[in-house]
Amino acid sequence: MDLGIRGKTAIVCAASKGLGRGCAEALAEAGVDLVINARNAHDLERAADDISAKYNVGVNPVAADITTEEGRRLVLNTLPDPDILITNAGGPPPGIWSDWKRDDFIKALDANMLSPIALIKAVLPRMIEKKWGRIVNITSQSVKSPIPVLGLSNSARAGLTGYVAGTSRQVAEFGVNINNLLPGIHGTDRAVALDKGVADSQGISMDDAYKQRIATIPARRYGHPDEFGKMCAFLCSEHAGFIVGQNILLDGGQVNTTL
Ligand code: NAP
Repeated sequence: MDLGIRGKTAIVCAASKGLGRGCAEALAEAGVDLVINARNAHDLERAADDISAKYNVGVNPVAADITTEEGRRLVLNTLPDPDILITNAGGPPPGIWSDWKRDDFIKALDANMLSPIALIKAVLPRMIEKKWGRIVNITSQSVKSPIPVLGLSNSARAGLTGYVAGTSRQVAEFGVNINNLLPGIHGTDRAVALDKGVADSQGISMDDAYKQRIATIPARRYGHPDEFGKMCAFLCSEHAGFIVGQNILLDGGQVNTTL
């Protein structure tokens, strides 16, 4: 299927690895020129070279922490009026309800709620003017079904989801579509870190931690960043203009709900 976005431009945040990388690759495959971002300049430049060589599109790497004002300024200065914005950043650390102090909440809100909102607010005026735009936020299945040890993530991502629910309906008439993708467990560095936490705390092997987790997933496997990226590219396509403010789970059926 031709996604109809060849020649458009996109900012993909937190994209040298994992789910952001999957989104960058799928957009590049559709012919979109990219600005990609991550903190580690070496990994990011290598990712930019690989993607550019593979898909023959422009890929401009901007090494910066996207959760800081300075980081967002650097990225937006490089591409102030993208047609497409993918927001993403690392997730907050695990713990239990009594661990988290005000500063921990502020940090999580900054990273996983206020940073995407700042980016969205920065790009919306030009998208509205151009009468075309696509924004996809990478959130988490924890928005639909809380993961108790990730209370900071549950809280911050719920806040972003509320903002997107209203805002997406205010800008849809201008041809701008904002949606959220909710990953369940995917085979990325984040999954390795989560499995290591389980292995260490239960004194089991990484393989047993993996087997224990996939037993809870109807698809009996982890997701792949490339299939996640393909869904993201579809949401950014010409064909997705009637999809507004949705929260789309990519979780192998793990969240057990009828609707
Ligand atoms: P990942 O494999 O650890 O990749 C993270 C990517 O983000 C890397 O390119 C990393 O590069 C970059 N990054 C991290 N923090 C950044 C920051 N502050 N500024 C700029 N770039 C940053 O993670 P992932 O699995 O793709 O997860 C992406 C998001 O989805 C996270 O918020 C995660 O919590 C959420 N999520 C993931 C899963 C899963 O199973 N993978 C499930 C649910 C939710 P640098 O380190 O060089 O910055």
